[in-house]
Amino acid sequence: MVIEINTKFPIEWNKTYYLVTNEKIEIYKKCDVCNDTGLTNIEDEKSYCPKCVVDFFGYNPDIIDIKIKNELLKFCLYNISIEENDIRLIFKDITNEHSYSFFTFYKEDFNTMINNDGYQLFYNYNDAVEKINELAKK
Ligand SMILES: [Zn+2]
Repeated sequence: MVIEINTKFPIEWNKTYYLVTNEKIEIYKKCDVCNDTGLTNIEDEKSYCPKCVVDFFGYNPDIIDIKIKNELLKFCLYNISIEENDIRLIFKDITNEHSYSFFTFYKEDFNTMINNDGYQLFYNYNDAVEKINELAKK
């Protein structure tokens, strides 16, 4: 069986690809009830801070800043998932021995190899470095 996948660049087994991440990190305001310790004294008994507990369960916390973290990671092809009209390319993080994450590209990302969050996969290391440097200037 021959599978035709039109991607921005060749997808090969046992080749190292380079992923430039675009992680949004939300910076929260310090908790004004417990000073970020998570604990508080109510009637002389230690208990969980009511405000942080609320935040933890989905209350909208006070975001004071959003930072973007761009990292250059190494990935290799791990699996190709094919179901009826859907093809997915699953890559595995091989940046170091502690890496364990996987990253999926969907059919609609194949032209650009950029996903919804702006994570971009590169065939060549130098192109990825160029991208990281460009993002650092912003
Ligand atoms: Zn708190």
